[in-house]
Amino acid sequence: GFKCGIVGLPNVGKSTLFNALTNTAAAAAANYPFCTIEPNVGQVPVPDPRLNQLAAIAGSKEIIPTQLSFVDIAGLVRGASQGEGLGNQFLGNIREVDAIIHVLRCFEDDDITHVEGTIDPIADAETVETELMLSDIDSLTKRKSGLERRIRGQDKDAKALMALAERMLAVLEEGQPARVVEAADEEEQKLIDELQLLTTKPVLYVCNVSEEEAAEGNALSTRVAEKAKAENAVSVIISAALESEIAQLEDEEEQKAFLEDLGLGETGLGRVIRAGYDLLNLITYFTVGPKEARAWTVTQNTKAPQAAGVIHTDFETGFIRAETIAFDAYIEHKGETGCKDAGKMRLEGKEYVVADGDVLHFRFAN
Ligand code: GDP
Repeated sequence: GFKCGIVGLPNVGKSTLFNALTNTAAAAAANYPFCTIEPNVGQVPVPDPRLNQLAAIAGSKEIIPTQLSFVDIAGLVRGASQGEGLGNQFLGNIREVDAIIHVLRCFEDDDITHVEGTIDPIADAETVETELMLSDIDSLTKRKSGLERRIRGQDKDAKALMALAERMLAVLEEGQPARVVEAADEEEQKLIDELQLLTTKPVLYVCNVSEEEAAEGNALSTRVAEKAKAENAVSVIISAALESEIAQLEDEEEQKAFLEDLGLGETGLGRVIRAGYDLLNLITYFTVGPKEARAWTVTQNTKAPQAAGVIHTDFETGFIRAETIAFDAYIEHKGETGCKDAGKMRLEGKEYVVADGDVLHFRFAN
């Protein structure tokens, strides 16, 4: 599955957010640095109102949303790339995630210590990003000596990788993250992936504001939004403390009423989950029947057999075709039979690229 890593300086609200996301008390939030020592992984259902609409039409007994993994990554401090704090462990954990959710403290609270002394999310973001960039510089420098050896041995692939490594190093040494280098084609993207850099991962900034500011944000979150815009990144505003209160309300109706009282339409968690999903270029397809309506996750541009493989490898190896109905058609013609009658069910083959919202039924041979 796909993983988002929650990072940020100590005491910015990472564990509080993670707990609210996973609705568990497993990662106990506490007011001191290095509280979260082991990375905690939580599977979080991706909210998607389309799934309920499909289930209502098909009379599905069970509704199974697709999931996204979140990892609460141990606190980072200045000097982590040099092994300070839980530095190396922190960086290793980031290497394993697909996207970074960077929590920034935008709330004032004299009782909660700030490791850097003042509340300044832009400076905090730079502190974290600098550690990631230093770590990338370090790993590229090490990588280069290995590549030099391979080049002497006439390894052609090594040459291309070396050229890219040098380009990346130049960017990083100018103080920019490696993600500013855009791949010219698929092949170059593969090389970029091979370098396994931390600053090529997509970033979502989460501005953690006080409960009173959850709807509109504040001056600090506005500055983060500007920074994100300039970097082609995304930011969302949440109040982690408020989210953890909402997450503790068991009843969905109760949650809705609570949100309305606060002038909020959707939980911040919902927005974080969906932003994470978008950040990873993920799309959803559905399988719908009387037993269950279920959402599945694939990356954009996935072809039908590989999409089928997410359900079961047999579906991929034995793939024959996919009976395909677009979501809107399914709703308009009230289900599979209606779609068949209206000629809205397509038979798609191996080269079909799955679209977001497709309702699929795979035909396969064993
Ligand atoms: P982490 O070190 O980044 O994981 O931070 P925690 O989630 O453990 O939070 C550190 C402290 O800040 C805890 O005492 C939280 O209750 C508190 N905290 C987290 N979010 C908020 C918030 O939005 N407002 C206030 N006032 N306190 C918060």
